Amino acid sequence: KKLGWAVVGLGKFATQQIIPSFSQCKQSKLVALVSGDRAKAENYARQYNVNPKNIYNYENYDSLRNNPEVDIIYIVLPNGLHAEYTIRGAQAGKHILCEKPMANTVEECQAMIAACNQANRKLMIAYRAQYEPFNLEAIAIAQKKQLGQLKAIVADHGRNLDPKDPADVWRMNKKLAGGGSLFDIGIYSLQAARYITGEEPTEVCAMTYSTPNDPRFKEVEENVNFILRFPSGVLANCTSSYGYSSTKRFQVFGSNGTLELDPATDYYRHQLTVKREKVQEERQIQEQNQFALEMDHLSESVMQDRQPKTPGEEGLQDVRLMLAIYEAARTGRTISVDSRE
Ligand code: NAD
Repeated sequence: KKLGWAVVGLGKFATQQIIPSFSQCKQSKLVALVSGDRAKAENYARQYNVNPKNIYNYENYDSLRNNPEVDIIYIVLPNGLHAEYTIRGAQAGKHILCEKPMANTVEECQAMIAACNQANRKLMIAYRAQYEPFNLEAIAIAQKKQLGQLKAIVADHGRNLDPKDPADVWRMNKKLAGGGSLFDIGIYSLQAARYITGEEPTEVCAMTYSTPNDPRFKEVEENVNFILRFPSGVLANCTSSYGYSSTKRFQVFGSNGTLELDPATDYYRHQLTVKREKVQEERQIQEQNQFALEMDHLSESVMQDRQPKTPGEEGLQDVRLMLAIYEAARTGRTISVDSRE
């Protein structure tokens, strides 16, 4: 059985990655589109066999309530709109998959979780790397102690923000983006440190830098370097940039070996190298469509009435930590981020 999905926002990521990936899904099918541009939606509807009666806009979005074909709504809008559309979607009786970062503030994240709980609907944050086979193998290697005792993680995520790309225009706007490179891609460095250790950090310190007079960085930051301290003693050094050329990688250092995933969080063609006792081995892992795996995970969680692996609380934790990283950079102090609230 396949559950019916509505995709909200027909931007670059939704149209180039998400919508084409439904063809690889076993438990999810695209049945509705939500867009401010009717002609664009009709084009995609034709191409992907969506009934034109299931095209919605941002005004009549709430009437999805009356459409029993739609079980799950996938929010692929600019970050500053995630909270509103998640809450309205839950109130329309639908389960929600929301893109990362979950929202701009802790309060918004809490309101999203509350709205989904109140409506008795599932809420999942689209942390695709946690459904992607190379990342899952790296997690298994670290957690089975195949590298010995973990000591350090280095994670780097960056790219050049392109003001000519419409998808990057809202990313320069603090209200729509929530933050700069950290909220957009540094979040993958933060996620990697958390899922590789399986722990929550206790302290963060950080520095930021934005090129003076670069018009891209009037409202949001260019670079953030941050260090996370984990309870086991692991220290993670992470970088995040809107100024260096495309980088998406992490390394894990243990007492008996190291691993490197580079690229770690691309859409495909990941590469995992494990080095132990001077023997270097490239792991052969079957590449799979991570977007399909991720969407099917939520469909399955709904069908089996189980909490998804990356629920709203996971998104909230990253927003809390990213705001603590900004505070650390602003104050020059190490910030305690002890427990989940
Ligand atoms: P995009 O600009 O290409 O798409 C956003 C869509 O929202 C556009 O179609 C735009 O028309 C629409 N929109 C509706 N109201 C808007 C408003 N007020 N201002 C601006 N646009 C508005 O951006 P994108 O790169 O597709 O990113 C969308 C979301 O997906 C973001 O939350 C982003 O973080 C996330 N994303 C995730 C991944 C991933 O790998 N998981 C990759 C890219 C983007």
